[in-house]
Amino acid sequence: MAELANCAKCGRLFVKHSIRDVCESCYREEERQFERVYAFLRRRENRTATMAQVVDATGVEEKLIIKWIRAGRLQLVHFPNLGYPCDSCGAMIREGRLCAKCLGQLQADLRRAEEEKERGASSPRQTTYYTQDKTKR
Ligand SMILES: [Zn+2]
Ligand SMILES: [Zn+2]
Repeated sequence: MAELANCAKCGRLFVKHSIRDVCESCYREEERQFERVYAFLRRRENRTATMAQVVDATGVEEKLIIKWIRAGRLQLVHFPNLGYPCDSCGAMIREGRLCAKCLGQLQADLRRAEEEKERGASSPRQTTYYTQDKTKR
């Protein structure tokens, strides 16, 4: 259903038809920028460009390029030096939402919380440990 919304980019009021959060003219401008980035990256010699080099060469904001990567419009598998920031610390990553460091930290935190819960639990119930089945067929 159509509703009125303010363009996330220029602030103009526009009729929102989809999940798009920018007005028609900003959307077209964004598409033009996407074409520019895409054309740049399509050239063989630019496949290994870093984010800074892409921003430099196309004049397109890093924020937008990251948005396209996250949306799957730019597929990282073709571009070994591109990435997007880790949700937690901002380090460049190429898959998932967190970098290896933050993921390890998160797992350690979870483990600690789990241990604390066990220590704090008054019931003497046996804990179930999950073991990996190595004889998986
Ligand atoms: Zn706009
Ligand atoms: Zn991180």
